Amino acid sequence: PSLVVAVDGTSGSGKSSTSRGVADRLGLRYLDTGAMFRAITWWLLREGIDVRDVAAVAAAADRPRLASGTDPLEPTITIDGVDVSVEIRGEEVTAAVSPVSAVPEVRARLLDLQREVIGAGGIVVEGRDIGSVVWPQAEVKVYLSADPDARAIRRTAEQGGTDVATTQQSLLERDRIDSGRATAPLTMADGAVHVDSTHLTLDEVIETIVALAAQ
Ligand code: C5P
Repeated sequence: PSLVVAVDGTSGSGKSSTSRGVADRLGLRYLDTGAMFRAITWWLLREGIDVRDVAAVAAAADRPRLASGTDPLEPTITIDGVDVSVEIRGEEVTAAVSPVSAVPEVRARLLDLQREVIGAGGIVVEGRDIGSVVWPQAEVKVYLSADPDARAIRRTAEQGGTDVATTQQSLLERDRIDSGRATAPLTMADGAVHVDSTHLTLDEVIETIVALAAQ
């Protein structure tokens, strides 16, 4: 039950479906750290705070109350008691989340919350810096990737859209900011196993990680 599985990787690599599937298979909880960054971003936009104004974002980072529901079959995220699970997937939030996530005060705030949730163990945690910064002692660390074309096609299908090129641009722009920022950039953590999902089905990726956890 103390098992912690860290799943990091680029946008659209299949982290969420994979992590939820692994948690379900192993009877573990599930934490989507990207949803926390998205929820803060949603709140900043709603408050009318300029998300490009680093000082304003830093000053506001501690204000909202955040809570994550960790059931892999029905994960939730609430901010000041309001469930924003649906709202945080919108285009406006997606376009603003990477600059917000680069602000150190935002990361520090969420890092504390993440460690609080992970502390009890028995959890699959997905993000960008889980194996490198948040929980380097995780028993299983995975770095999930896929070719940009595969990622864009999957994400577009998920959203029920058709514009693969625009989706790909948005994924690559987030990768660029997430990998280039000074604090906790997306990198492959020490001890992480690289799983390339380009030519694997979701079930195959889940199997691969379940097998790693059994070792
Ligand atoms: O995983 P998801 O695409 O929902 O994450 C949204 C954004 O949140 C990422 O593009 C990244 O900027 C940020 N993020 C992060 N660190 C994490 C998880 C997400 O910076 N651990």
